[in-house]
Amino acid sequence: MKKIYLDNAATTPLADEVITEMVSAMKNFGNPSSTHSYGQEAKILIENVRRQVADDLKVTPAEIIFTSCGTESNNMIIKSCVRNLGVQRIITSPIEHKCVAETITEMRTRKNVEVVYLKPDKTGDISLDELEKTLKSSDVKTLVSLMHANNEIGNLLDIKKVATICKENGALFHSDTVQTIAHMDIDFSEIPVDFASCSAHKFHGPKGSGFAFIRKSSGLKSLITGGPQERSLRAGTENVAGIVGLGKAMELAMTNLDAYSKHIQEIKDYTIARITESVPGVRFNGRSAEAGASLYTVLSVLLPFKDPMIGMKLDMQGIAVSQGSACSSGASKPSMVMLMLLDDEELNATTPLRVSFSHLTTREEIDDLCEVLKKIASGHLIENVNG
Ligand code: PLP
Repeated sequence: MKKIYLDNAATTPLADEVITEMVSAMKNFGNPSSTHSYGQEAKILIENVRRQVADDLKVTPAEIIFTSCGTESNNMIIKSCVRNLGVQRIITSPIEHKCVAETITEMRTRKNVEVVYLKPDKTGDISLDELEKTLKSSDVKTLVSLMHANNEIGNLLDIKKVATICKENGALFHSDTVQTIAHMDIDFSEIPVDFASCSAHKFHGPKGSGFAFIRKSSGLKSLITGGPQERSLRAGTENVAGIVGLGKAMELAMTNLDAYSKHIQEIKDYTIARITESVPGVRFNGRSAEAGASLYTVLSVLLPFKDPMIGMKLDMQGIAVSQGSACSSGASKPSMVMLMLLDDEELNATTPLRVSFSHLTTREEIDDLCEVLKKIASGHLIENVNG
């Protein structure tokens, strides 16, 4: 059976060039902390990637700390802000990724941190006026944690504006940039964000490799104690091949950014048009269908019928999509994002589906998806007519 992968916000296939570079790096087995030539050769591989990533983001190499993933980066930043920087209040939204949301909940229950949630409107946007008002309402040391692009609906946050508001009000700002780094041209010399996160497997790099951007002299400390690796911000022998893979994937992504983003936006526009004609009554969640206001890789579809088995039905036809984000798709209850955007009646009568693209996605694949959706939708229509 032909297989079609449309779940690129969950993870992406490894690029062949990345595999080649990683295999070569694996043969270089030295411990980067060793002072002999084996170790130093491994160290050079890591430092080259650090410099390359720092150049892409217009920061200094010392501000890039390699980690195992986006989850670890977000955990480290939020937890250390509370433990080491005296953060007593966190302003966030209820639609952050689980690794941010759960970490903040833990900070509330274990460390007594006050948590303020900015409720998104029905399009999934956060009010920046409300953010400013909340910041001004108290003098306690505050961390604002808001994601750059939502992984379910793709809504983009104006991080430059948020960072500026935070600076003006003396708050720290962390943005989960896992869905945007290497998908957008991000210049941190222009955006006064304090902390950000990245995960290589979201842009055709390996799983188990990411980094945290930590603004210089932030005072953050390592979650993992041990050796002085990563400027003492992340103890443990480095995943050299993973870091090299991240570097190659980021190089490919940034070199081809214009071509890839143009192709993917065209595919997204095509998908919106084809699904609209194939499934009468279909809607798109949040700002998902608005070019420019949402990430071009993600489309959140709201099918006008209830079908909790839709993911499985599509999978049986060889089509991989997500019924929410990867982290909540196994759960039977609606995701927090859908709970925020839809009322009970809508939740009971609809099915959300996240379709996410890469530069490898083709129109033919979208045609196949729409054919299957059309059949499933007409089945539901007949069911509804028959009562
Ligand atoms: N943040 C966002 C917005 C994500 O989409 C993901 C992955 O789904 C993560 C964080 C977690 O990244 P990782 O899988 O590298 O732990």
